Amino acid sequence: EFSAATKLDGIGVSEIIRIGAQARALVAKGHDVIMLNAGEPDFPTPDNIKLAGINAILTNQTRYTALDGTLALKAAIRRKFLRENGLDFADDEISVGAGAKQVLFNILMATLNPGDEVIVPLPCWTSYLDMIKLAGGVPVCVSCPEDAGFRLSADALRAAITERTRWLLLNSPSNPTGAIYSSAHLHALGAVLRDACRVGVIADDIYEHVRYSDVPFATMAAVCPDLRPRVVIVNGVSKAYSMTGWRIGYVAAPAQMIAAMAVVQSQCSSNPCSISQAAAIEALDGPQDSVRAHCRDFQQRRDMIVDLLNSIPDIRCTLPDGAFYAFADVRTLLARPSVIGQGITDDMALCQFFLNECHVAVVPGSCFGAPGYMRLSYASSESMIALSLARMKAGVERLL
Ligand code: PLP
Repeated sequence: EFSAATKLDGIGVSEIIRIGAQARALVAKGHDVIMLNAGEPDFPTPDNIKLAGINAILTNQTRYTALDGTLALKAAIRRKFLRENGLDFADDEISVGAGAKQVLFNILMATLNPGDEVIVPLPCWTSYLDMIKLAGGVPVCVSCPEDAGFRLSADALRAAITERTRWLLLNSPSNPTGAIYSSAHLHALGAVLRDACRVGVIADDIYEHVRYSDVPFATMAAVCPDLRPRVVIVNGVSKAYSMTGWRIGYVAAPAQMIAAMAVVQSQCSSNPCSISQAAAIEALDGPQDSVRAHCRDFQQRRDMIVDLLNSIPDIRCTLPDGAFYAFADVRTLLARPSVIGQGITDDMALCQFFLNECHVAVVPGSCFGAPGYMRLSYASSESMIALSLARMKAGVERLL
């Protein structure tokens, strides 16, 4: 009988994927399930980017490329960092992988020794914790409550640092809360890190372009230039350019780290898809108007979904500043005797109810380390948002 290696103990396919599979099984049975669980834009990849991909095929850019990205793509990434973040990198400080996910995995594999700690503010993207464990590290989770804006405070960071701390993993804008760290927040965290010289920062900036205010985007390497040698920036084209399926993510880091990451990638997957790399150049260098247009659409949907959520009894949702998720507080609802009486005692059971009884797939907050909440993706059309929230409201009214 098959038994998996012990390094997989306690690590599973993410709960988000399990919910997606359940939802699809209901669809296969003929139910019309509305999927507000997915973490991807519903827009097609813009045509200029698609054409760059097609052109790459027609011009035979279909062979192995340099291991961690073509020089042409690295040059486009360098231009992006200079233009948008005011940061100048060399080619050997850039690495490209199959999505921000692979790039994050490479970083952790290349830098963590057994027992090294990574501070992760909660709520966080599900994959962080399992990736850290797979790489031999220990996630040190710090809960960041909603009344602190779901952000890590300088005091909480100071309290979490030990002699084993290797990284602080920051994600801004955040999946699942949409919380953004302003330059003032980053300054405060930077002041703590200045005294902890072994601790580096992994800045997961994948939602950089999905923000709803005019406040300029802030990232640690730009805000605290003295910390730059310890800061790694992760980004990618998935969310900004609706390119989730193309699988291109990238990282800027000190050259020695990039070299270590290349070792990991070379023995794992080698170069990211040559065609996708060519398309990513067009995404980064080409016209950026679709990025802004999509952001405006997301903002309208955000306003709509948050209003609708707040119109449901005992559900409360604040306006997120970025990303495309609403993170709703369902604790009051879960405290209702009539709800408990129907066997719904936690956010997992509530989301199961929404899926089975209302045919709306949403993700429990527990998946992100925040029980009592649920995450709804508004990367879906306004008509679908209206319909799904009407179903959820009717469902809740039946429960009360
Ligand atoms: N980081 C965060 C916070 C995410 O939400 C995601 C995707 O959902 C990723 C990284 C990975 O993105 P990709 O691998 O598509 O570049």
